[in-house]
Amino acid sequence: MSGDVGTPAGGWGRAEILQRLQALRAHDLPAHGGRTLAYVYDSGLAQADAIGLEALQLFAASNGLDPTAFPSLLRMENDLVAWAGRLLDAPDGFVGSATSGGTESLLLAVLAARDARPDIARPSMVLPTTAHAAFHKAAHYFGVRPVLVDVDPVTYRADPAAMAAAIDDTTVLVVASAPSYAHGVIDPVPQIAAAAAERGVRCHVDACIGGWVLPYLDHVEPWTFAVPGVTSMSVDLHKYAYTPKGVSLLLHRDAALRRTQLFASASWPGYTMLNSTVQSTKSGGPLAAAWAVVHHIGDEGYRRLVGAARRATLELADAVAQIPALSVVVPPDATLLTLVTDGSCDVFTLADEMLTRGWFVQPQMTFRDMPATLHLTLSAATAPSVPEFVDALRASVAAAQDAGPVRVPAQLADAVATLDPASLDESAFAGLLRMAGLADEDGDLALPDRMAAVNAVLDAAPAPVREALLLGVLDRLSRPS
Ligand SMILES: *Cc1c(COP(=O)(O)O)cnc(C)c1O
Repeated sequence: MSGDVGTPAGGWGRAEILQRLQALRAHDLPAHGGRTLAYVYDSGLAQADAIGLEALQLFAASNGLDPTAFPSLLRMENDLVAWAGRLLDAPDGFVGSATSGGTESLLLAVLAARDARPDIARPSMVLPTTAHAAFHKAAHYFGVRPVLVDVDPVTYRADPAAMAAAIDDTTVLVVASAPSYAHGVIDPVPQIAAAAAERGVRCHVDACIGGWVLPYLDHVEPWTFAVPGVTSMSVDLHKYAYTPKGVSLLLHRDAALRRTQLFASASWPGYTMLNSTVQSTKSGGPLAAAWAVVHHIGDEGYRRLVGAARRATLELADAVAQIPALSVVVPPDATLLTLVTDGSCDVFTLADEMLTRGWFVQPQMTFRDMPATLHLTLSAATAPSVPEFVDALRASVAAAQDAGPVRVPAQLADAVATLDPASLDESAFAGLLRMAGLADEDGDLALPDRMAAVNAVLDAAPAPVREALLLGVLDRLSRPS
């Protein structure tokens, strides 16, 4: 590191910047401490975090744009891919790439599948309804029609017979999850992959959240490349490998399957662009951090961390069974737990009540025949506080029962249920945001502290209306300050 540390840059000094950054963070959910049960993953290992941050800093300015210019990054990428290949039972000849996250891994799996079939004019993919929304993003970006197949109403697992029946001459990809994000269960990968293989179609297993967990658990049903017909898999390092944000891996059974993921352009006067992923300039920081943390924690460490998170998940599931108003939607296959209420209270009020007690749990809205639920992602760092979590949950249930389930005024429920979002002009839209409790009298965005009333309105809205309302919120949030 060089540079004139003594020369003032002209802006705020270091102390002031740090103080302002801390102030900016005041309203963020805590990323450490195990009390945020979505978005963040905490190993509870301070040393692992410190090593990851050091690596992040060392490689923050390096650029994965050109693997020959920064061979260190290629080495670390290939090393992590090899590690993942071992966890995912990848056969000889497998290949993989590091991406920025699960969404990018899934986008590229869909892109590679689509472009491998240029003979199909209007490509489609077969998804269980529980497949991650990133597949819908891929559908939207790449013009691949999603064919949604209902999951089993009791087990919440994909229905392999229905999925097989949904494969047709336009299918370029069939998807299974290991496990699904929303309900935490593993789809029947062997049957799904066999059905895909029989039709000569690719099969992606989305192990973004489970790929670094399931290998360290005993007695898991088959879900990896060991299953014939599985052609690609994704696993996020920034989830249960407990690495800083910004790294996922996408693996293909062989190099030929990856060929259509790669991109080159010599059609301009600059350097020939040559990319294996969506990003071109790509910080080496997250990759180096992942490499450092994975090697620091190691197989033994991951086995311990997974054991702790899994035991916490089962302990919490048992405790929930003792709370009459709550139940677990489906027995968890990994470290994700999904809760539903008996109607004496609602999940949105419960989430608000938990937040006032210092716990973030994630509400999930009604979808088709699936009820609104609470999603809990359990990290190793949450394990020691399960009893505390259960106390907060009991108190939250009592408070939510006292308040009673949120009631959406009938007029508002009717309005959102029948709305055609395409027909709304800007002022009608502002009125709707106001009615939904998301904007003030002037139509300016105003998010309440307690979200239950808003969430209940959104829950009453069909998916396209919910999407339109939230896009309006995002649009208004993302304005220069
Ligand atoms: C988190 C997740 C994704 C998306 O990953 P991001 O890193 O948030 O882009 C995809 N699939 C599953 C099953 C996930 O849990």
